[in-house]
Amino acid sequence: RAKQQQRGSSQYFSAAMGSDARERFKLLKGLRAGFEENQLFVVYQPQVDLDSARVIGAEALLRWRTPEDRFIPPDQFIPLAEQSGLIIPIGEFVMRAACAQLRKMQRLGHTDFRMAVNVSMAQFRHPGFIDMLARALHDSGVAGHNIELEITESMAMDDADLVLRVLAGIKRLGFSVAIDDFGTGFSSLSQLRQLQVDRLKIDRAFVQEAQSSSAGSTIAQMVVNLGRGLGLTVIAEGIETEEQRRYLIGLGCHEGQGWLFARPMPAEQLETWMQR
Ligand code: C2E
Ligand code: MG
Ligand code: MG
Ligand code: MG
Repeated sequence: RAKQQQRGSSQYFSAAMGSDARERFKLLKGLRAGFEENQLFVVYQPQVDLDSARVIGAEALLRWRTPEDRFIPPDQFIPLAEQSGLIIPIGEFVMRAACAQLRKMQRLGHTDFRMAVNVSMAQFRHPGFIDMLARALHDSGVAGHNIELEITESMAMDDADLVLRVLAGIKRLGFSVAIDDFGTGFSSLSQLRQLQVDRLKIDRAFVQEAQSSSAGSTIAQMVVNLGRGLGLTVIAEGIETEEQRRYLIGLGCHEGQGWLFARPMPAEQLETWMQR
């Protein structure tokens, strides 16, 4: 009887929502079940030195494949995971997978390999975040200094006090920090300096507009100059063409990732790709 009532009320709930909300609700239910049923996995996209194409590391990217072989893009399900709190266990899953993979790369002799992992504001807000990171390091036997956490620019500007406090804990564990999608937010120079980040990651929109629009190229040039002026490394994402690679080198950007070098790939493939 209680169950019937519950079902009734959730139907009412669904009917009362707009169809967008209903879709999101269904997707979230699917995500929760899918996570339980191991439908989530992590792929790795190599990051390279733009001059030599030598591999410097990889970015861990989350994937969700449903039993019907549908891939749901992270841009669709990560926001839901963030809103629902599901990003806390999912974020831990990604961190542990990335640490284990890093350990494996080290065992294969890639001792300088750097693993980049995306983290959300919802994780920063979670009181157990730093402990989770420490346990993931401890359990996998890797040191924080081979791992880079990517935070978005908007996140860096969101709740400055909280972000500074959490960043201090992250730094104590030895992690480096990159600002992702740089150029899309509104950070000020002084905020950026305060944050003590290590790297700026130029958003792929500017990489791809750099040669076609003068605004794109101005922003790309400014990001590189800003990063170098602050003593940070600059990395570019979304490099698809040889022209883009050369253009970025010309701007003074020497690290990058993109389809020109490699698509995100499953762990086993990364290991063989590294041997090439
Ligand atoms: P992001 O962190 O900026 O990741 C870069 C995105 O660019 C990835 O999309 C990657 O597949 C894509 N990409 C790389 N090279 C190229 C290229 O040459 N051309 C084009 N067109 N795209 C390229 P993806 O994997 O769909 O991820 C989208 C976003 O989802 C990520 O953007 C990140 O914000 C978020 N995300 C992914 N995995 C995680 C995760 O584990 N945790 C969190 N919090 N967010 C994640
Ligand atoms: Mg990223
Ligand atoms: Mg990015
Ligand atoms: Mg992005």
